[in-house]
Amino acid sequence: MSLANAASGLRLVLFGPPGAGKGTQAQLLKERLGVDHVSSGDLFRHHLSTGTELGDLARGYMNRGELVPDQVTIGMVLDRIGQLPCGQGFMLDGFPRNTNQARALDESLTLANAAIDRVVHIAVADDELIRRLSNRYICRSCQKPFARDPATGAPPSGCDTFPDDCDIYQRDDDTPEAVANRLVVYHRETAPVLDYYRERGLLTDVAGEGAVESVNESLLHALGLTVEV
Ligand code: ADP
Repeated sequence: MSLANAASGLRLVLFGPPGAGKGTQAQLLKERLGVDHVSSGDLFRHHLSTGTELGDLARGYMNRGELVPDQVTIGMVLDRIGQLPCGQGFMLDGFPRNTNQARALDESLTLANAAIDRVVHIAVADDELIRRLSNRYICRSCQKPFARDPATGAPPSGCDTFPDDCDIYQRDDDTPEAVANRLVVYHRETAPVLDYYRERGLLTDVAGEGAVESVNESLLHALGLTVEV
């Protein structure tokens, strides 16, 4: 597997618990930086919806809120990075999710004379994550998240990108049981990756509980990019 295509360009890891807003911030950063967004969760969901063998294998783990085994996950993500256009860089979301994955990523990048440039940790407290995930609906077409009406509790009516052809749904792993398990798995297996990157001087923490725009400003600041006025 070659990561030679990823040998130049900004290489970021967007890190944080489920519901921290990694996907939302990745979309905003993608417009701003022009780097590709590689989401391991989206790659798995694509395999699920197209009915591949890998999707069948991942389904049970995902629905229970467990990590899909490394033997499957690492190859899938590194293959995707290896396919990116030369020099474009990338933004990882959902990977690495344990220290074994972090080491495998470093080893593959080193072989391509490359390395992760920065890891931004979007920090959000568990009670806020539970609130967000239990209110979250996703558009199947554009993958954008939408929340229930805070006043009435009604599900969102539809998405603004595909108003006539919108299929809003709740993810199978946003059930209360799966959400609780995802948070347990995050604290047990994923949070130690923070120390891995902190020891290497790559980690910046950003408070993730504010409005989308203000979190985005903090992210840009953490990356040393000033906001245009
Ligand atoms: P979230 O961050 O909201 O929990 P994701 O969309 O990133 O969700 O991932 C959904 C599910 O896909 C995870 O709960 C897990 O089962 C699987 N998954 C995604 N990324 C990884 C990974 N790096 N390692 C193992 N499993 C993963």
